[in-house]
Amino acid sequence: MSGILIVAEHRSGALRPVSLELVGAAQSVRRAGERVILALIGEDPAALVSAASVAGVDEIVTVRLPVRGYEPELIEAAVRSLIDARQPELVLLPHSVDAFGYAAALAAQGEYGLATDVFRIERADAGVVATRGGYGQKVNVEVDFPGKQVIVLALRAGVFKAPDAPASPQLSELPAPARRPRVASLGYLEVSSADDVDMAGVPFILSVGRGVGEAANVERFRKLAEKLGATLGCSRPIADAGWLPKSRQIGQSGKTASACKLYLAMGVSGAIQHLAGMKHVSTIVAVNSDANASIFSVARYGIVGDMFELADALERHFS
Ligand code: FAD
Repeated sequence: MSGILIVAEHRSGALRPVSLELVGAAQSVRRAGERVILALIGEDPAALVSAASVAGVDEIVTVRLPVRGYEPELIEAAVRSLIDARQPELVLLPHSVDAFGYAAALAAQGEYGLATDVFRIERADAGVVATRGGYGQKVNVEVDFPGKQVIVLALRAGVFKAPDAPASPQLSELPAPARRPRVASLGYLEVSSADDVDMAGVPFILSVGRGVGEAANVERFRKLAEKLGATLGCSRPIADAGWLPKSRQIGQSGKTASACKLYLAMGVSGAIQHLAGMKHVSTIVAVNSDANASIFSVARYGIVGDMFELADALERHFS
């Protein structure tokens, strides 16, 4: 077993950015002379070849499926035949809702190693070590795969750098698996209101917690976020109260701020469930009137004070 197989992901006819981040991840661990193969699986994979032809990909294999949209069982079967045909040691998938539909079954049936939500990969003589969060992101867990010939890793989005240089990889095609589709995709629903946003993909979040006091105050912080170039997020009580949509909630039962580089938490206490969605962000700035608030344990910069007074100062500074 040698080589790296990347299973690219696409939606509504467009390659998802995380697919190219997988190429960046493969580049960071590929051994000299090792091939990186990118698989495009779907109804019209040829239409995605140009977008997937970036530096670091040696070969693109297309598998044309006789179904519209996403069919997890056919994708699983297609990936298995790709593994049989190309014999890679590493199989990289996005840690995404699509991959959740087939990654575990793929690994269980093939007796492959599997780790999900991976944000670091190391490859030493002793084998592959994948790092992921554990216990609600409270600890980093290193996973190794003794005795496994094939290792499937589902990688967290927004962590690995995608290459941008174009390239001309070799093209090949594999037949669709001989399996009858059992799932029909009816299409994707667009977000339901203009207020909904994909918090996983934004780089700068201003999050408000219960310290915001009342619904009427939220608008002020929305305007402040706009002024700062941030996206407004919140803790769970704010979403539960309906002051902001659920899609803006950060944390264990909300969204993970996967692509966030700067997280400004105002009036958020720092409960474990909130930290689960943002603790990994490299620059966390916390504003809380309680010097003992847990949020300060993960913050790089902490301001013990009133979030409204800080909002005043920021509004003045940026007006
Ligand atoms: P509080 O804990 O009430 O904190 C408010 C903070 O504001 C306090 O620290 C206070 O000192 C500060 N404050 C008050 N006034 C001011 C002011 N004027 N200026 C500055 N600071 C001020 N929570 C999430 O956020 N996300 C989740 O996904 C999530 N999932 C959960 C899942 C489960 C199964 C469970 C049980 C709970 C979950 N929770 C989640 C809830 C979580 O446990 C906390 O209750 C919640 O995060 C607290 O929100 P908060 O920090 O806004 O409120």
